[in-house]
Amino acid sequence: MYDIAIIGAGPAGISAALTLWAKNIPFLWFGSQSPSQKVQKAELIRNYPGLSLISGADFARRLRQQVAEAGLEIREQTVTNVFRMGETYHILCNQEEFQTRAVLLATGVESVRPIPGELEFLGRGVSYCATCDGLIYRGKTIGVICTDKGQEHEIAYLASLAKEVYLCPRYAPVEVHGDNIHVVEGRPQAVTGGEAVQAMQVAGQSYPVDGVFLLKSAISPSILVPGLAAAEGHVAVERDMSTNLPGCFAAGDCTGRPYQYAKAVGEGNVAAHTAASFLRAAGK
Ligand SMILES: Cc1cc2nc3c(=O)[nH]c(=O)nc-3n(C[C@H](O)[C@H](O)[C@H](O)COP(=O)(O)OP(=O)(O)OC[C@H]3O[C@@H](n4cnc5c(N)ncnc54)[C@H](O)[C@@H]3O)c2cc1C
Repeated sequence: MYDIAIIGAGPAGISAALTLWAKNIPFLWFGSQSPSQKVQKAELIRNYPGLSLISGADFARRLRQQVAEAGLEIREQTVTNVFRMGETYHILCNQEEFQTRAVLLATGVESVRPIPGELEFLGRGVSYCATCDGLIYRGKTIGVICTDKGQEHEIAYLASLAKEVYLCPRYAPVEVHGDNIHVVEGRPQAVTGGEAVQAMQVAGQSYPVDGVFLLKSAISPSILVPGLAAAEGHVAVERDMSTNLPGCFAAGDCTGRPYQYAKAVGEGNVAAHTAASFLRAAGK
């Protein structure tokens, strides 16, 4: 059992990690080694105190360096589900499960809106987790919409089970191949069906499928953590970054606007302090 897990390694997650590290609290950390795409893609940052006119790439390099200097480990894993059972959080990363007393969400916001049918059919043919739900589709035909090249191994796993895979990649180049993998180019438009999923619509074409996997690098917090309260599409938080779930804290873009580095970093710091108090009160 771990004390706490941080989910996300953008500015909010990094700030939370550095704060927990400074307070000597051990933690698990899930995300990408290279700070989020939102840092790397910024052309020129003009509003971060102390760093006048810095490119996103340089800011990312400095953040990486600071994490390395502190000797902090980021697990290159996407968390697919977080369940609270009793006083414990169960954190699922495809096949692996970790247990923690607290969790700190620093997942950012999804820049891509869910496609029509995605949320409606979630759990009725739509899944975000290949290894959790792949076996259900052994010998069946599935659609896969993948926005994250890092998840190609999950596509290969699904193809080893399914009869046919219609893969709609939203990245390039595609380097996962197989006789039963059919790449369909174009924008995914919808998941359709009746009681359960029956088809995936891509670029005006309908592909009959038994299920659709959406493999992404980020999953909306309210889907990730069942029971988490939301406000206007973001995680609802108190001033101390606590959520409605005891031991669950959130920071950064996922808690709402403004979407800014300084806010993300500040909230990451506050969330880590509050989490530390929570763990202390729980006698850890
Ligand atoms: C092009 C661009 C330019 C910008 N320029 C500026 C600027 O000049 N000034 C400014 O203040 N702000 C700017 N921003 C906004 C800024 O990037 C965000 O406010 C900031 O990155 C938010 O930090 P965050 O840590 O909350 O989220 P993010 O930076 O989005 O980081 C979240 C991380 O968590 C990961 N994650 C999500 N879900 C999971 C999961 N289930 N498992 C594991 N990891 C997960 C994501 O992949 C991501 O890496 C810009 C944004 C963009 C897109």
